[in-house]
Amino acid sequence: MTTTPTEHSPLGLLGGTFDPIHLGHLRLAEEAREALALGAVRLIPAGQPPHREAPSSSAADRLAMVRLATAGNPALEVDDSEVLSSAHSYTVPTLERLRRELGAQRPLVLILGADAFAGLPSWHRWEALFTLAHIAVANRPGHAPHGRRWPGVLSAALEAATRTRLCREPARLAAQPAGLVLPFDMTPLGISASLIRDLLAQGSSARYLLPDPVLDYIGLHHLYRRN
Ligand code: ATP
Repeated sequence: MTTTPTEHSPLGLLGGTFDPIHLGHLRLAEEAREALALGAVRLIPAGQPPHREAPSSSAADRLAMVRLATAGNPALEVDDSEVLSSAHSYTVPTLERLRRELGAQRPLVLILGADAFAGLPSWHRWEALFTLAHIAVANRPGHAPHGRRWPGVLSAALEAATRTRLCREPARLAAQPAGLVLPFDMTPLGISASLIRDLLAQGSSARYLLPDPVLDYIGLHHLYRRN
């Protein structure tokens, strides 16, 4: 039986640098929404991400590209609070803010690619994530940790935190506000923002890896050129 998402359905959250947003991100949001019966997915571009080098393009450009990519799809919302904040972007404080906004009972589902999930123990206050949201983990080409292959691939701390939370039934996400870890399969897409930046820097085409309006924006604003 399929359930029709409502405003009380679990809300998906997809954070990222989106430097630039591409079809891997959009399919991740779309397939998670469908597979997990999410009411909507909220994309949260990071302002100043703490664990990586400064993004190539400004927060304002990355936000503008996310808005262009999601325009016309009411199931994809854009949260600009990290971009507008001058503080470092950490996921736990963002989830705490969303909890205050949406209440203690609304199921929240943090959507991560397998690479991001494996890196969780380097995140600020990562263990608090489980008290604030569920985590849905998608496969990503080139990144091993997914589904049954988790044991032995994840760090011991993450494996231990995941073991008792592992869930294979999407319907369970709606029954509690947070705390489950659910692997799900999406169409494997070997697209990354770094691949797109590299292609553009060498003057090659990135067409069909990202939405045309985003590519047009990149051209208009001379982003990702080598000089
Ligand atoms: P970069 O290449 O600059 O590291 P990226 O393409 O990984 O960037 P991010 O904005 O860092 O993009 O990713 C945001 C989230 O989207 C992460 O959870 C990441 O795992 C996920 N993601 C990005 N691309 C894909 C993809 N092709 N398939 C599955 N998940 C993806």
